[in-house]
Amino acid sequence: MDFQNSFDHFVFDLDGVIYSGETAIGNSPGVLEALRTNKKEIRFITNNPSRSPSDYAEKLRGLGIHSHASEFVTSPMATASLIEESLFSEKWKTVFIAGSNYLKNEVRKTGLVEVSGDDSLGADLVVIGSHPEFNLEEIKTASIAIGNGADFIGTNGDFFYPCEDGQAPATGALLASVEVASGKKAVTAGKPEKYMFDILEKSGVAPTKKTLLVGDSLRTDIVGGEKAGYSTALVMTGVAKKTDLEDNAVKPDFVLENISFLLKPL
Ligand SMILES: [Mg+2]
Repeated sequence: MDFQNSFDHFVFDLDGVIYSGETAIGNSPGVLEALRTNKKEIRFITNNPSRSPSDYAEKLRGLGIHSHASEFVTSPMATASLIEESLFSEKWKTVFIAGSNYLKNEVRKTGLVEVSGDDSLGADLVVIGSHPEFNLEEIKTASIAIGNGADFIGTNGDFFYPCEDGQAPATGALLASVEVASGKKAVTAGKPEKYMFDILEKSGVAPTKKTLLVGDSLRTDIVGGEKAGYSTALVMTGVAKKTDLEDNAVKPDFVLENISFLLKPL
């Protein structure tokens, strides 16, 4: 038996699985091509809130990987689902968004009116997602608006992402600063919460053991995949360390050195 014959759907996290920075990991282009040749359904999920599906398709093209924008599910898409499904959605009219233009577009699609300047301080909802221009003014505005009664949503709770020089702060680290300043915890939308997995199911990915989620984070990918009812594979090319496996209650079904092992026997 091998992975290809054991699963119908393959759901891949991106950063730390398919690529690291601007470099493909292992033989990720070859693995994806082999899965496509064997008519496997492929999806990509990412908690990084700064890029759109077409941006990611473009990035993968640059790494020699063919993909289509409709195969990507992002944390801003999950955030829009959370807003639409929330018990409080009726009372939210205005939103202050600290995040990428892509996140702003996804949130505006829910019908909320984005406010800026002084109006931000009276917003009904604050949404935060990491973006390259994140600044102290955004932390200040978000904290004051939340102090004034706004509800608080974060695109994702990841504390850091690996970069060339070490660990760089991700959305969870930015949320923490606003949580400390405002005294209110954020509700998060990305993995391991259900919203991305609901979007995947609507796009035809069965929530069964015949779907394999491949991720590098125990806390987001593996927990999320388990909750969704998928089989799970942890790759050791991203945030997870060997020691995490020893003292973590979450156990992936498979642990792989890297993505290339998907083409080897089980
Ligand atoms: Mg990752």
